[in-house]
Amino acid sequence: MNISSGQFDEDADMSDYATFSHGLYIDGHWRPSSDGRMIDVVDPSTEAVIAQVPDATLADAAAAVDAAAKAATGWRETPPRKRSEILRRCFELMSERAEILAALISLENGKALRDARGEIAYAAEFFRWNAEEAVRISGEFGMAPSGANRIVVDYQPIGICLLVTPWNFPAAMATRKIAPALAAGCTVVLKPASETPLTAYALAALYEEAGVPPGVINVLTTSAPGPLTSAMLADPRVRKLSFTGSTGVGRILLAEAAKHVISCSMELGGNAPFIVFDDADLEAALDGAMVAKMRNAGEACTAANRLYVQAGIHDAFAEGLRERMVALKVGPGTDPDTECGPMITRKAVDKIERLVADAVDRGARILCGGTSLEHRGYFYPPTVLRDVPMDAEVAHEEIFGPVAPISRFDDEASVIARANDTEYGLAAYVYTRDIARGFRVASKIESGMIALNRGLMSDPAAPFGGVKQSGLGREGGQKHGIAEFMEAKYIAVTI
Ligand code: NAP
Repeated sequence: MNISSGQFDEDADMSDYATFSHGLYIDGHWRPSSDGRMIDVVDPSTEAVIAQVPDATLADAAAAVDAAAKAATGWRETPPRKRSEILRRCFELMSERAEILAALISLENGKALRDARGEIAYAAEFFRWNAEEAVRISGEFGMAPSGANRIVVDYQPIGICLLVTPWNFPAAMATRKIAPALAAGCTVVLKPASETPLTAYALAALYEEAGVPPGVINVLTTSAPGPLTSAMLADPRVRKLSFTGSTGVGRILLAEAAKHVISCSMELGGNAPFIVFDDADLEAALDGAMVAKMRNAGEACTAANRLYVQAGIHDAFAEGLRERMVALKVGPGTDPDTECGPMITRKAVDKIERLVADAVDRGARILCGGTSLEHRGYFYPPTVLRDVPMDAEVAHEEIFGPVAPISRFDDEASVIARANDTEYGLAAYVYTRDIARGFRVASKIESGMIALNRGLMSDPAAPFGGVKQSGLGREGGQKHGIAEFMEAKYIAVTI
C-alpha cells in the first residue's frame, strides 16, 4: 500500500509496511511531522524495528484540529443517507481487505492471526452498524405538562471529537469511536497508540477511498501524548473526548477535560471475574474460559482476570484448563498456526512475571507455564495458577497476559462478594445451568457487562462499557454509542 497517495494495493506484502515512511493524515493529506522526527514501530515477535511513523508536534495537532473544524459544517450538513452510504462503504472495504489488514495487526501488535481476523470482522461491523444508525437519529416532540407550549428535542452532532485509543485492538477501538462519531455528524482527530500506528494509518487510507471527505477524519501519532492531548483539549473547538485505555491515563485525561468542561466517554481497565458453579457444563465452561482468557493472549480489557470455581467442580476444571493451555501453540502472530502471540512490550512481560511471582510467594501453585520464554520477542507462556489467595496482587491488578489464576469458592454469596472486591467493573462471566441463579448473580455483580454461559460478550449491537473505575459511557448498542457524540437541543415552541 502506498500510504502517501492513499492508494491501497492488494498485491502489497508486509515488507511495504516495513519500508514505508508513513505520514500524518491531516486534511486528506499525508505529511511529515513539522520537525521531521519519527517514532519507531517494533514487531513484538522479533523486537525488530519494522517501520517509522511521524512524531507529531503541537503545530501538527493544531493543524489537525483546524482541518476537523474546516470540515465540520460540510459534514454535519451532509444528508444522513449519504453519511450512511460512506460508512457502509468503509464496512465493505474493510471486509474485502480483511486478510491484509489482519496481517498488519498481527505484525505490529503480535496477536495471533486468527485473533486479528476476528478483530477486523468486529471493527468493520461498527461501520455497518452505524451506517444503519446514521439514518435513524430522531428527535422528540411533546406537550409541556403546563400545556403552555410544545417541547421539541433535536439531536445535534456534539462537535469536534478527540479520540485516543490503545494498542490492544488497533482497528476495533478506533472504528468503535469513528463510526458513531461520523454517523452523528462529527469530525474527528484520532490519536492511536504509538505501539500500533500502522493499522490506524492503513485504515485512514481506506476511509478516504470509501469517500470520507478531507478533514472529517485526521490521524496523528506522537511520542508526547500528554502535551498534545492537553493542547487539543484546550482548543475551544474540541467538544468531546472519547478515550479507551488504562484507568490511570483515563483519570489524567478526565482531570484535563474538566478544566475545559468537555464531554468525556471513558472505556478503561478491567478485572473480570470468571465464575463457575458446580452445576455448570464443564466442557462449555472450559471452552468459554479459553476464549475469555486467551483471546488476544489475554491482552483484552474484558479478559478473565480471576477464575472462581466452586469446590465440587474445582479440580476437574483446573486440570481441564491446564490441558487446554499447554496444548496452545505459542509463536509469532503472523504465523497462521500460532494460537498465543507475544505480549506488546518487554515491560508487559515484566509485569506478568511480577504478578506470578507474587502469587506464588503468597501460596499459589503453578500448574503450567510460569516462566518467561528465553528467546527473542516478548513471549510469555500460557500459565495456570491454582490456590491463588485473595490478597495476591494478581486478584486486584489487570494481568493483560496469558495467566489464569484459579481460586476455589464454596457458596454464592461469598463469590459475589469476592467478584465485587475490586475498583473495576467492566466485565464478568458466570457459568451455571440454573438460569435463575445466573440472572440473580448477574444482577448483583458490579460490572457493566455480564456473559452468562458465554466466553465472549463484545457486539457492536450491544452497549459496551464499565461501571466504577472501568469507565463512563457506552460504545455500540442501540442509540447508546451514537448518543455519546450528540447533544440534545431543546426548543420550546408556542403554537
Ligand atoms: P494506555 O497506556 O492508557 O494508553 C492508551 C492511549 O492513551 C494511547 O494512545 C496512549 O498513547 C495514550 N496516552 C498515554 N498516556 C497519555 C497521557 N498522559 N495523556 C494522553 N494520552 C495518553 O493504555 P494501553 O496500555 O494502550 O491499553 C491497555 C489498557 O486499555 C488496559 O488497561 C485495558 O483494560 C484498556 N482497554 C480498555 C478497553 C475498554 O473498552 N474498556 C478496551 C481496550 C483496552 P501512547 O501509546 O503514545 O502511550
